[in-house]
Amino acid sequence: MHEALQYKKNDDGTVTCSLCNHRCTIKEAKHGICGVRWNEKGTLNAMTYAKISAEAIDPIEKKPLYHYLPGTLSYSLGGIGCNFHCQHCQNWHISRATLEDARLRTLDPEEGVRRAIAGRCASISWTYNEPTIWHEYALDMGTPAKRQGLGTVYVTNGYITEEALRELSPMLGAYRVDIKSFSDDFYKKVCGARLQPVLDSAVLARELGMHIETVTLVIPGLNDDMEEMAALIRWVIDHLGPATPMHFSAFHPDYKMVDRGATPVATLEKVYTKAKELGLQFPYIGNVYSHRYENTYCPACGATLIERSGFSSRFTGLDDRQCRNCGGKIEIVRHVS
Ligand code: SF4
Repeated sequence: MHEALQYKKNDDGTVTCSLCNHRCTIKEAKHGICGVRWNEKGTLNAMTYAKISAEAIDPIEKKPLYHYLPGTLSYSLGGIGCNFHCQHCQNWHISRATLEDARLRTLDPEEGVRRAIAGRCASISWTYNEPTIWHEYALDMGTPAKRQGLGTVYVTNGYITEEALRELSPMLGAYRVDIKSFSDDFYKKVCGARLQPVLDSAVLARELGMHIETVTLVIPGLNDDMEEMAALIRWVIDHLGPATPMHFSAFHPDYKMVDRGATPVATLEKVYTKAKELGLQFPYIGNVYSHRYENTYCPACGATLIERSGFSSRFTGLDDRQCRNCGGKIEIVRHVS
């Protein structure tokens, strides 16, 4: 048992968790919405501390992160559970797994750092399932990882509370956040959550100095309305800045959402074009193989800076953080400080 951070004990034996914006009050011998934080006699325990379901060395582009240590490998870990219940979850086999039925291995935080370095990775990513609910473990691994010069990445739904994000900020370098839709109704119906806390966490992550990239899975008939997409893009430009990379990815039928087909590439191209018109410097499309809108172009002169094919990158026009053609500075993290 590993006692949780970010909770308070109540007089009646319940506990209130303040790790994510559900802020569950949990009765004795019960867990919160995420399924992995358990009230044991008035103490909240993080049941999946150091328990992993998945371990891999991925290109960082797979997260996707295109402006944080591009062209490097990221040591990637996943656990089980999630604080969202998305109907289209692509990793439902681990996000919906329970402690009773999951196959989990133990990996100490220090051993995780050693494996990342031995695997010639430039960063560690907590990914595959929601890292917010792995808070204590990510903190214990990320803190020494940062000291040893590694980057640190959350691939997250962004439902973390302000206090938990502030606690993470000394060690967390990149916040790859899903903005699944710009509609609160979508969040309520499809994910069992709310939109505003996600937006608030992204703004705070930026204030705290983290690198941010957003991902929106474009789902036919659910969030592909161009006016709604334009409102989301405007919000990102206004609150996170026009140099924020935004990824618009193709949906494929999965889990409980099999009532519609995959996103047509033409829809993604339309969103990309709209984002450019609105002044976003680095829109990308994703989940389509080898498309020119996966490349990075200089926002000043239009030269190709990074060509991508699958998850591999070729730095055709970028010298460190500078466009080789016009000399313009590009907002991209090449090294961790
Ligand atoms: S992490 Fe979120 S879902 Fe899990 S117990 Fe805490 S408040 Fe509830």
